[in-house]
Amino acid sequence: MATDCIFCKIVAGEIPAEKVAETDTTLAFRDINPKAPLHVLVIPKVHHPDAASLASAEPQIAAEVLSQAGVVARQEGYEDYNLVFNTGAGAGQTVFHAHVHVLGGLDASKLFLA
Ligand code: 5GP
Ligand code: ZN
Repeated sequence: MATDCIFCKIVAGEIPAEKVAETDTTLAFRDINPKAPLHVLVIPKVHHPDAASLASAEPQIAAEVLSQAGVVARQEGYEDYNLVFNTGAGAGQTVFHAHVHVLGGLDASKLFLA
């Protein structure tokens, strides 16, 4: 656990979160400031600063995070969804513990990449 990491504290139960799924290696919980009708974060329980670092260091856990993103989206009723990995402060990353945003219900025609 990284000290002063808010997501490590959520994993440790030191900060409350609205959990929607959990595995041995991952945790999924609702974003505190949702930007879409469905906005869940899936994180590895182990601390890595961003998603690519996680994938380089522990590819099996990175795969489990990605797999759980799909499980959570379907569990929440979304067959179609967007996954976002902000990496670096200049790209909007504010929490430096790897996470994927699972976003459902966005207007696809308004997406940056659409
Ligand atoms: P980032 O900008 O780093 O990709 O995403 C971090 C996300 O974490 C943001 O969408 C923010 O709303 C969310 N977040 C920050 N602090 C907390 C918290 O204490 N609880 C929950 N559930 N979400 C948080
Ligand atoms: Zn952490």
